[in-house]
Amino acid sequence: MDIIVLRPGATAKELRYIVKKLENKGFKANISKGTERTVIGVIGDTSKITEDESNAFASMAGVEEIHRIIQPFKLASRDFKSGDTTIRIGKHTIGGKRIHVTAGPCAVENLPTLLNIAMEVKKAGATFIRGGAFKPRTSPYSFQGLGEEGLKFLAEAREKTGMPVVTELMDPRDIDVILKYADVIQIGTRNMQNFRLLSEVGSHDKPIVLKRGLSATIKDLLMAAEYIMAQGNNKVILCERGIRTFETATRNTLDLNAIPVLKKLSHLPVVVDPSHGAGKWDLVAPMAKAAIAAGADGLMIEVHPKPEEALSDGEQSLKPDKFKTLMKELKAVAKAVGRTL
Ligand code: PEP
Ligand code: MN
Repeated sequence: MDIIVLRPGATAKELRYIVKKLENKGFKANISKGTERTVIGVIGDTSKITEDESNAFASMAGVEEIHRIIQPFKLASRDFKSGDTTIRIGKHTIGGKRIHVTAGPCAVENLPTLLNIAMEVKKAGATFIRGGAFKPRTSPYSFQGLGEEGLKFLAEAREKTGMPVVTELMDPRDIDVILKYADVIQIGTRNMQNFRLLSEVGSHDKPIVLKRGLSATIKDLLMAAEYIMAQGNNKVILCERGIRTFETATRNTLDLNAIPVLKKLSHLPVVVDPSHGAGKWDLVAPMAKAAIAAGADGLMIEVHPKPEEALSDGEQSLKPDKFKTLMKELKAVAKAVGRTL
């Protein structure tokens, strides 16, 4: 027993009674109110529930039916919620008909460069600004990000352009400062299975973009989403950003299969980061188009006016004019698959 579906018209009292019974058994209830029905997700080790206990719940007032979910991820699964999840951020909705593009530098470097990029990408049609202030670098000697100063610059870019800010949180100790400035918290590839970090962001209600781990399976990604959702935060956006394979011609292998697979298994929005996926600027446009064609709800793209001088990921960053051209081309791809951009 993983999901309890209530009858249309079940009362608040009936709902409270069921939740109380679940809590008495050591479970938590995740309540999702649809237009017709309320669905209760049972959080905890549901394999311990006996058939008799399950039957008892099935016969409680207000209960229509009880479901088992076969997948180990529950709240993130399509079995739990058949309709697509949409996430409202400012005036934008992620996961609806419109495709959203998040663009900006890999790392926030200084205020003038960031403002310049923000203005350019906004003009081209991007709706979110990205930029790392806490950077997960392979070498401890590489630029690690500006920290809070970088977040302040991002807030200034939001002020000037109206674009919500997407930025990475690497350490639970920085949660307060991130909450102060970010509109969407990015959990990076290297932290996809940092379970304490996932639980931390799950206990706030900021939307999360969760990037697939370098060597994570699709199931691992959905289990990571489950960690966040189990704490009560359902605003999770899944991000395919390329995985490690034997191929050396590209930085990573962008797994386009993941888009339709995730859409089949989960109701959560799916975005694609072709910049990290390919690792080379000239591959970004074709892979961005392919991602939209395959059903992605959004893209995350690195843009820098002087890639050769960028403090990180210059080789995969698009110059603003190339980004602008890509945005025009993406409009046509979006239209071909019944979406807008
Ligand atoms: C980034 O977005 O700049 C980044 C570090 O991404 P990832 O975690 O996917 O490598
Ligand atoms: Mn980067």
